[in-house]
Amino acid sequence: MTLQAGIFGYPLGHSISPAFQQAAFDHLGIDATYKAWETSPAKLGDAVSLLKSDDYLGANVTVPHKQAVRQSLDAIDPLAESIGAVNTIVKENGRLIGHNTDAYGFIQSLKREADFQLSGKRVVLIGAGGAARAAVYGLAQEDIASLVIANRTLENASALASEMSDELAEVHATSLHAQALATSCSEADLIVNTTSIGMLHGPADGQSPIAEGLIPSDCLVYDIVYNPENTPLLEAARRAGAQTLGGLPMLVHQGAAAFELWTGQTAPVEIMFAAARNAL
Ligand code: NAP
Repeated sequence: MTLQAGIFGYPLGHSISPAFQQAAFDHLGIDATYKAWETSPAKLGDAVSLLKSDDYLGANVTVPHKQAVRQSLDAIDPLAESIGAVNTIVKENGRLIGHNTDAYGFIQSLKREADFQLSGKRVVLIGAGGAARAAVYGLAQEDIASLVIANRTLENASALASEMSDELAEVHATSLHAQALATSCSEADLIVNTTSIGMLHGPADGQSPIAEGLIPSDCLVYDIVYNPENTPLLEAARRAGAQTLGGLPMLVHQGAAAFELWTGQTAPVEIMFAAARNAL
């Protein structure tokens, strides 16, 4: 029996998950297909319940379903519960369990692809949406010195900062234009963009969330936007002399973690990277 897996999203024209997940199944000789399951919000509940059939292995979940899908599942893993978003559905004894592998993908990319040690580091994170929540929960597992959350809507940054006040040694919120952001960036070891600014065809295509002048030459700039691979922020960071990390590694590592949850096998990460780059 050919097993089925796939990704729920709406729309899904942009997804490269089918390319790199299928490459992983094929490489390991697993008889499974991975498809883009474009599913409108009204049809999500019925589509998710199909996963209970024996021929379904599991699924990924992307925009706009990461929050809403929780009500169609039997249980939510504690990390996904805290983040408030599910990006992976795993079957355990016929039950559908929601997981979040974005936090793992975010941290794993820093460690494996940028060789960046988080312990004792000062981090500025731009954004306070779903991806920011996963990144911040990932950072809370590491021994960072401080976190500044900067966001267009200051209230959203403040709410996330106060939620994390017991989890992090030092956490503050600021707006994108505040002088405080300039000071925080000048002292940062790591600056991360988790907003959709700079995303191809997104609301701020071709833009950078911060000015080049705010980027110190001795920090790492990490943009989780993966399309385009060279975002305006990463180009500005290179001009400023900083190190850079793009969003493709996070996408591949979150997918690799999902693959391992479904199959119990070690994901062929390099094969997945090659397929993802090819598909972009
Ligand atoms: P989201 O929940 O909708 O959050 C969007 C964030 O971007 C919010 O902080 C929002 O600020 C900010 N924002 C949006 N448009 C803006 C603009 N024009 N100016 C200033 N700020 C703006 O979205 P998300 O799910 O977190 O995704 C954010 C980005 O991360 C997307 O590009 C997505 O593709 C990427 N992502 C990448 C990966 C990966 O594996 N590499 C994984 C997940 C997400 P407000 O609070 O003010 O609205």
